[in-house]
Amino acid sequence: MNDLYDVTIIGGGPAGLYTAFYSGMRSLKTKLIEAKPDLGGVVTHFYPEKCIYDVGGIVKIRGEELIEQLTQQAKTFQPKIVKNQVIDRLKVQEDGLFQLTSTNGDVHVTRKIILAVGCGTFEVNKLQLDGAERFENTSLFYAVHQIRQFSGKRVVISGGGDAALDWAAELSQVCRQVTVVYRGDSFTHALEHQVRRLRKHSVNVKLNSELIDLSGSDKLQSVTIRETKTSQTKVIPADALIVNHGFRFGLGGIENWGLSIENNGIVVDQRMESSVKGIFAIGNAASYPNKFYLIAVGFVEGAAAVNAIKHDLDPEAPSQATVSTHHEKFVQKD
Ligand SMILES: Cc1cc2nc3c(=O)[nH]c(=O)nc-3n(C[C@H](O)[C@H](O)[C@H](O)COP(=O)(O)OP(=O)(O)OC[C@H]3O[C@@H](n4cnc5c(N)ncnc54)[C@H](O)[C@@H]3O)c2cc1C
Repeated sequence: MNDLYDVTIIGGGPAGLYTAFYSGMRSLKTKLIEAKPDLGGVVTHFYPEKCIYDVGGIVKIRGEELIEQLTQQAKTFQPKIVKNQVIDRLKVQEDGLFQLTSTNGDVHVTRKIILAVGCGTFEVNKLQLDGAERFENTSLFYAVHQIRQFSGKRVVISGGGDAALDWAAELSQVCRQVTVVYRGDSFTHALEHQVRRLRKHSVNVKLNSELIDLSGSDKLQSVTIRETKTSQTKVIPADALIVNHGFRFGLGGIENWGLSIENNGIVVDQRMESSVKGIFAIGNAASYPNKFYLIAVGFVEGAAAVNAIKHDLDPEAPSQATVSTHHEKFVQKD
């Protein structure tokens, strides 16, 4: 028999984490389910080492530190946190409760659902070269989680987007050599100041070029690139290769739940409720006129969804949680 939860939050990015906390403030029995092995959403996966400056009250914080703080805060009221489960299927039981099934077959029963799924689950576009997988996680990487891991190394970065150029500029300060290989003839997807930073940090840039071979036994020793216009090839000695060829995002089975979806977002009303009663959406997943895609906005939307749920489950309850300065949980602590 599955435990029944008042609220099940799907997605453990910044919005889902904060909402798990706020749901505890409202004494709701809460479960949070995340597809990945790590919490933190795109912050954890795309920019853990970058600094964030636009969350109110926090002058500057590294992405992974913000997620650490959010995770600690989310655990205040001991919600159930489930990782490594992609929620895929929805069934409305005869008694009106929702039954959620993950791709591994686990079933979760809940009164209300908050979708904090961002753009959905994401998978990196892997390097399409025979045998590339044998270097994965030893000398072939799809993200930079720790700059210092590459200290003193010769690094090749394949890709020409924001993240690739950011990594190139950062790594050039600790690496022996950094080379960016990009098939375009200019960095049209990057910001002007990023291109200037590349020049300033003397990063080697190979435009109109693509990777055609990787050499080495257990660890990478060199990569071969081909100039796409002339077909000339060149071998570049390399200790590590970082590939940034984009991502595939998708809501997966959630697209079949009958929700109204516009501009890749789930349409919600002022209560953050979707077109299906009892299912709410917040953070980057939610769509409404004049929406801003900021971490701080997801926090506010999470509180709004939880307050609406509290009202639906207990119409006599106050319209919002007792403020934290007066909340019994924290008053006892102080
Ligand atoms: C490079 C970059 C820099 C940024 N810089 C800033 C900044 O400086 N300031 C700022 O405010 N914002 C910034 N943003 C935007 C910010 O990261 C997003 O607005 C924020 O992460 C959205 O949070 P979220 O929780 O809604 O979604 P996400 O962070 O996308 O998290 C969604 C989570 O849901 C999970 N999930 C999806 N589908 C399922 C499923 N079916 N089952 C279970 N789990 C699922 C995913 O695995 C993911 O962990 C930046 C974004 C990027 C890409």
